Amino acid sequence: MIDVNAHILLIYTGGTIGMVENPETGSLEPFDFSHLNSHLPELQRFRFHVDHIVFNPVIDSSDITPEHWKKMVHTIESNYNKYDGFVILHGTDTMSFTASALSFMIENLHKPIVLTGSQLPIGKLRTDAKENLITALEIAADKDELGNPIVPEVCIFFQNDLLRGNRTTKVNAENFNAFKSYNYPNLGKSGIQIRYDRKIIHQPDFDKKTAFHYRLDTRIATLKLFPGIERQTVETILALKNIKAIILETYGSGNAPLSPWFVEAIRETVKRGVIVLNITQCNIGMVDMQRYETGRELLKAGVISGFDATFETAITKLMFLIGHKYEKEDIKIRMRVPMVGEITRLEDRTNERL
Ligand code: ASP
Repeated sequence: MIDVNAHILLIYTGGTIGMVENPETGSLEPFDFSHLNSHLPELQRFRFHVDHIVFNPVIDSSDITPEHWKKMVHTIESNYNKYDGFVILHGTDTMSFTASALSFMIENLHKPIVLTGSQLPIGKLRTDAKENLITALEIAADKDELGNPIVPEVCIFFQNDLLRGNRTTKVNAENFNAFKSYNYPNLGKSGIQIRYDRKIIHQPDFDKKTAFHYRLDTRIATLKLFPGIERQTVETILALKNIKAIILETYGSGNAPLSPWFVEAIRETVKRGVIVLNITQCNIGMVDMQRYETGRELLKAGVISGFDATFETAITKLMFLIGHKYEKEDIKIRMRVPMVGEITRLEDRTNERL
C-alpha cells in the first residue's frame, strides 16, 4: 500500500534519464529538476512528497568512481531520518556496479533505495523514463500492513522488473529491458499492479541501527580467460605490484587451462598473498571447482570460489572487504558467505562440494 504521507528523496546523479532535447538545437541537455513537476505532471497525482537533490556536476555513469558511491552514501546518510525511501537516477552503463557497492556500504538498511534510469531521455516522446521513474517512486513509498517498507533493499527497477541490485547485470544496450538478475528471482514485477515476491525480499533487523561504511580499496585486477591467451599477458597481470586481489573470469563451472605454466603462475600469485577469486563467464549457474580436473587444479593452487556472484558484485565486495582491512583469511571466509543476498547461501547450493 502506498503511504500517502511518505517523503521520498530523489537523487539525480546523471545519465540519459535526465536529458531533454533542446527544441532549437536538437541536442540533449541536462533536465532542470526545479521544473520536475512541469515535465512530469503525473507526479502531482501522487499524494506523497518528493524532494530532489541533483549531483553537481551530473555525470555519465561511465565516469562513476568509488568517490561517487561515497557521495551517494553520504547523501543518504545525512537524509536518512527525514525520508521513507530513496530513488537514485543513474546512467544505465554502471548502474549494477553502483547498486552492488551501495548494498555493501549500507549495513542493515531499513528503507528502500531504488535505482533507475532509462534508455531514452525523459524529454523524448517514446521515453521509458517516465514509467521507470514513477514506478520507482511508488516502490520507494510502498509499505506493508505494519507500516514497514516493502522493499528495504538496494534494488534496481527497470521496465517491468524489480531486481536485487547486487544480482543485476546490464544486458541490453538497445531494448528497454536492460537489466537481468540471472541467479536470483525478481523481487517484484510491475504490470497493471506492482506485485512483490515478499518471501524473497531481504528483511533487516528493525531494532538494530543502519550503519554507513565508506572504506573501499580499489587495488584489484581482473583476468578474463580466452582460448589462446598469451603466457606473457597472464604473467604480467598476475605479477602486478600492489594488487590485493585478482578476479579470474573462467569458463563454465570455474574451469581454466591445465598448462603447467598457467597453474604455476596462479600458485605463485596465491603464495605472494594475493587473493585469487574464481567467477564464471557464464551468466547462469555457479563456480564448482570440484567438478572437472581443470577446476580442481585451481582449487589446489589456492584459488577461492566466487560461487554465483556477478562480476559487479565480486569486484565491489572485494573493494569493501579489502578496504575494511580484514585479514586475508577472513576475507576468504567472508567471500563464501552472503552479506546481503549477493550470492546463494551455502545451504541452498546444490553442487557445493568445497
Ligand atoms: N552512457 C549513459 C550512462 O550510463 C547511458 C545511460 O544513461 O543509459 O550514463
